[in-house]
Amino acid sequence: MESIILIVEDEPAIQELIAVNAEHAGYRVQRASSAEEADALLRAALPDLIVLDWMLPGMSGLAYARKLRGADRTQRIPIIMLTARAQERDKVDGLEAGADDYLTKPFSPKELLARIKAVLRRRAPERTDDVVEIAGLRLDPATHRVVGNGREIELGPTEFRLLHFFMTHPERVYNRRQLLDRVWGDHVFVEERTVDVHIRRLRHALEASGHDRLVETVRGSGYCCRTK
Ligand code: CA
Repeated sequence: MESIILIVEDEPAIQELIAVNAEHAGYRVQRASSAEEADALLRAALPDLIVLDWMLPGMSGLAYARKLRGADRTQRIPIIMLTARAQERDKVDGLEAGADDYLTKPFSPKELLARIKAVLRRRAPERTDDVVEIAGLRLDPATHRVVGNGREIELGPTEFRLLHFFMTHPERVYNRRQLLDRVWGDHVFVEERTVDVHIRRLRHALEASGHDRLVETVRGSGYCCRTK
């Protein structure tokens, strides 16, 4: 799945440098030159990660990071802060404001891409192309293939995303609302019982290899992926 990176940077040359490199690495890129422009883009849809410059016209990147962390809808978006200032004190401010990582200018695009990948892997493993394997069930996001004990398993797109999310977040319980947010995405208006329908389909597809028991119902709470 193609991740969307929002670049908030007012210096055109740096914005361009990041955008070109991120697109080349296979990301979809959105660009903003200020917190206000970024907000307009966020209203339409949420990106998977924000590269946020500290020094911006109007609201600073630091204040904007705090604002994003303070709002329900945006609090989970990973943020990498960019700054020209290298002081340790600033770095602490940035991390306290909620940035996941921090890069000091001048930086190499290669270094930034490595950080983006690492942050996405940590914060949203279901958005990476890493193969995941649990108890003989193997899911490959790049090829969209699922194999259980050597047997190919056919899944619809929603069941695939649901299984990918479960396998990258094992042993944690998610209620229906959380699953809708994380798997169906932002701005969807779907009834909670839709989740149950797709869980049933997913389990049915996994029955052949005996992996249906990986997706456990936690009474009164939601669902959980068990690793054993
Ligand atoms: Ca700047």
